[in-house]
Amino acid sequence: MFMIGQGERTVPVGPPEPQHCPRCEEVTDFQPQLKYKFGQFDLLFGFVYDKRYQLTCPECNHGWHLDKRSMEQNIGKLPIPFHIRFGFVILLGLAAALGAAYMVTHAAA
Ligand SMILES: [Zn+2]
Repeated sequence: MFMIGQGERTVPVGPPEPQHCPRCEEVTDFQPQLKYKFGQFDLLFGFVYDKRYQLTCPECNHGWHLDKRSMEQNIGKLPIPFHIRFGFVILLGLAAALGAAYMVTHAAA
């Protein structure tokens, strides 16, 4: 039995940086954010898709996208829970282990 869910999260990455906001027409503390969508099976294993970095104005939410590669070099560790980032790999690993165990037990019989 599988429960499948999905969601979207926005998490702040790094310190805010002052930028001039063309909408507020003043300098505000723009917050770098990572926004991602994820799917989840059974609330245990998940996968991430549609990952993007953005810099947004705290006043009006105006913002722009940031370069993914340079952002990931800057922040080092991704603020995404492990089981969501690598859930698919874990799931595949489990399936492979179960498959191998099945073959071993049935080959012996
Ligand atoms: Zn603004």
